[in-house]
Amino acid sequence: MIQDIAPHKLHNEYHPEKVCVPSDTVICVRENSLLVAEGREEICFPRRENLPREIACRYLFSIDEEDFYLAEDFRGEVTGFSFMSLRDIRYQLQGPQRLMYAAYTAYHLALWYRDNRFCGRCGERTAHSEKERALKCPHCGHMIYPRLMPAVIVGVINGESILMTKYANRPMSFYALIAGFTEIGETLEECVAREVMEEAGLKVKNLRYYKSQPWGSVQDLLMGFYCEVDGDDTIHLEREELKEGRWVPREEIQGQKDDLSLTNEMMMVFKAGKEPRAFEG
Ligand SMILES: [Zn+2]
Repeated sequence: MIQDIAPHKLHNEYHPEKVCVPSDTVICVRENSLLVAEGREEICFPRRENLPREIACRYLFSIDEEDFYLAEDFRGEVTGFSFMSLRDIRYQLQGPQRLMYAAYTAYHLALWYRDNRFCGRCGERTAHSEKERALKCPHCGHMIYPRLMPAVIVGVINGESILMTKYANRPMSFYALIAGFTEIGETLEECVAREVMEEAGLKVKNLRYYKSQPWGSVQDLLMGFYCEVDGDDTIHLEREELKEGRWVPREEIQGQKDDLSLTNEMMMVFKAGKEPRAFEG
């Protein structure tokens, strides 16, 4: 998965004392796009010295010894660089993987900064905490910490097959697993059962956790589970969201080459028969 960048390591602790120097990497975000060097096969972000002097840069994180800064809502022009959507960066550029991970993580933080410029409690403009990664309202004292939206992805197993679905209304349609966001007041276990029931009309049992993915483009933290269908295995698709859903035998599963998603890994792990087994108590 994209976060598997060892031996490199992302350090996401906030460092208020860090100052952006000319050789530092700056990720410039405008809507859903990031500024990258033109005509390259690999991701190349600008350095501070490539950008106009007046641009404010905020410390984000480091990968090994390389510090990354953010230029929010960047509107300028930089010779040799142009904006590319996060999706195109992922599918059209050849990594390196640590910079792919940096792109997603910076984008997630940029959205959080963008969406919390004002206090939701009193409407005052927020300011960055001097101590930690938090936005503080100078008027009412409300503190806003980085937000993640928990979501689940589910491999529903039926003997030697797994439930695979295709979304409706999407230009690129690949087989995927059932997924959805957790609601307030709901456990992850309940979320899994609800999403599978809503999207495929199936009851499930023997839920077990697999892995998580911290870089979704919709501010999510995706948690992967496997489970078995419980009882009737007739699929009743939620037609508004899905156009196809079927039980796919292990040997027929086709992964997406070079796809670094949790979805793809869970499909390939099942194909290889290496998914965590149900607890036989
Ligand atoms: Zn306030």
